[in-house]
Amino acid sequence: MLVGIAKLAAESERLESKRQVEYFELPARSLLNRTKPGMPFEWAMNPYRGCEFGCRYCYARYTHEFMGMEDGRDFEDKIYAKAHTAELLRRDLRKVVPTQSIAIGTATDPYQPAERRFGRTRAILEVFAEGKGRNLSITTKSDLIVRDLPLLSELMRANVLDVNMTITTVNTDLARLLEPRAPRPDLRLAAVRQLAQAGVSVGVFPNPILPLITDSEQSLDRLAAAAAAAGATYFGGGLLFLMPCAQKVFFPFLEKNFPHLLKRYKERFEKSAYLRGPYQETVRGRVKRIRNRHGLASSPAAYQPELWAGGEQLELFQFP
Ligand code: SF4
Repeated sequence: MLVGIAKLAAESERLESKRQVEYFELPARSLLNRTKPGMPFEWAMNPYRGCEFGCRYCYARYTHEFMGMEDGRDFEDKIYAKAHTAELLRRDLRKVVPTQSIAIGTATDPYQPAERRFGRTRAILEVFAEGKGRNLSITTKSDLIVRDLPLLSELMRANVLDVNMTITTVNTDLARLLEPRAPRPDLRLAAVRQLAQAGVSVGVFPNPILPLITDSEQSLDRLAAAAAAAGATYFGGGLLFLMPCAQKVFFPFLEKNFPHLLKRYKERFEKSAYLRGPYQETVRGRVKRIRNRHGLASSPAAYQPELWAGGEQLELFQFP
């Protein structure tokens, strides 16, 4: 018998079908999820379940397993848009202390193609733009985010907002292989430029850094140089995390496209989904060196929005 999220998924109403992709409306019970201690943000939010971009390494495939879908393809072909996102968010925000940070797009992309049709991310941003004093971040691989630039600018007047653009490589052919339905790297960089020019705090995440595929000094350096030239101010650096649900898709991908790497990946990831030890240290040092070379920080700079209470208070102090 299906229970919980699997039951909700089975009962979801079909919104639309497009080629092999089907869209459903998911009657979610809440929108904000409290994260575990140690995470760089206290709350996480994903307006969609599943992600049409279909990155071969995507770790979020497990979220479809919770809905009773074991085939890795379902994650990219059956997309669930959460229902009533604005109402859920208004209710959920009552339990969030204003100083706590909220990350949008921690498991699936909030600007995947479904967003063009269903606007669930936009509805969320509109709620944030109504209020003030929140600490927000958006992580995406999509240039669709520039559609919302006026809204983001409005929101930033009274809330802190950082945009993390994920770009694993500037090599278009490699990106097409790894992230078959995501926007090309040059389009993502163009979005970074537009965001930066509009005054948005924006950084580039080369995540996940893939051993022997995107981890070379040259590859990361080209990406960091392009990010800095586009106006990014920070550059992340997370390694590949390959849990069993992701291995089911990534290993056959390697077999087809990088057969010489399959054995090494299997040996490493069958022991643990995480890469740790000397390799982690080497990449960490490499990313740090590259950041320094291009004048990039490791995280967003702190800033105070124009309409925060502190700013208003400062005006009072400055009164003669
Ligand atoms: S964009 Fe993110 S969530 Fe979507 S498939 Fe790629 S890695 Fe997964």
